[in-house]
Amino acid sequence: MLKRVPALLLSVIWVAVAAWGAEPARKTHNVILLMSDGLRWQDVFQGADAQLMTEENGHVANIPRLREQFWREKPQARREALMPFLWSVVARQGQIFGNPALGSRVQVTNGKNFSYPGYNEILCGFADPRIDSNDKVPNPNSTVLEWLSQKTAFQLQIAAFAAWDVFPYILNTARSHLFVNAGYDPMLAPPVTPEIELLNRIRVETGIWEGEPLDAPVFRTALAYWKQHKPKVLFLSLGEGDEWAHAGRYDMYLEAAHRFDQYAREVWETAQSMEEYRGKTTLILAVDHGRGAGLQEWIGHGRKHPDSKDVWLAVLGPDTPALGERKGVPLVTESQVAATLAALLGEDYDAAVPQAGKPVADVMGR
Ligand SMILES: [Zn+2]
Repeated sequence: MLKRVPALLLSVIWVAVAAWGAEPARKTHNVILLMSDGLRWQDVFQGADAQLMTEENGHVANIPRLREQFWREKPQARREALMPFLWSVVARQGQIFGNPALGSRVQVTNGKNFSYPGYNEILCGFADPRIDSNDKVPNPNSTVLEWLSQKTAFQLQIAAFAAWDVFPYILNTARSHLFVNAGYDPMLAPPVTPEIELLNRIRVETGIWEGEPLDAPVFRTALAYWKQHKPKVLFLSLGEGDEWAHAGRYDMYLEAAHRFDQYAREVWETAQSMEEYRGKTTLILAVDHGRGAGLQEWIGHGRKHPDSKDVWLAVLGPDTPALGERKGVPLVTESQVAATLAALLGEDYDAAVPQAGKPVADVMGR
């Protein structure tokens, strides 16, 4: 039997419904920012490049095997072979920016087109001319992660894992006290399970490059920590692609790109399997710089390669309309990523840091 609803209650309901209509409820409670150092937009949107799948231009060890893995006649099929998660799940349910052939560009604005300036721009929301080397200099700027960590809701809710050992400086751990595990440093946050102990050993024992271990142990360590501690914000930066590219190894570079895509899938599927993350997590995929486009130029990036400012960006999450591969959209810059990450979590970073780029409105659904 229905009782009469008091008029006051009715008006409260009406106001609540009107407010809800004006500002759709945000669903994102967690953000994962997964980065691949220097993964080119060319390979992401066009798939493997036949001219680089050679001994001469790409130092490819086993050409038939590489072609079997990643060569397809049609560019659409080729990019799906290289990055199947991006071109199935993200392309259908999220948004991908940066295909110039479709009138979509993403660029770094720092003018340097190498790593530290790029990570500073992404994580702080602006380019800083003082950041002009990859040296281990503590970042004078606060990152969006440091800014978030000072809010009660995000205290001890942020974790950063990175292959590159410069990250404790980029994130200025001495000042920010963020949890950062990077380079060959063992992950020592308790509980150091037998799995973590083994990963700590493998990271060192499989080391090839100074300052940057292989991606796999870094990724596996981050995943284990994430499942154990369930932070609201996970930053994870992988570096193998850039290392192999600098070494001129197009085969290993493609393998690293493919693995990066698999890792994105694994993170996404793991999120959907956990109550704390299912339906309330946004995944952002980004890079710190592009690379040159030519047969030799692909190896490098930086000031001498002006086209290495062109990058790409992908977002997948419950607040991001499924617009897929974007066409005919305004320029997106790397300096917008920090405010976008914060806005997805309901925080107004660009109001607090006026020089930061504005959130990418399209991925916020408004
Ligand atoms: Zn880089």
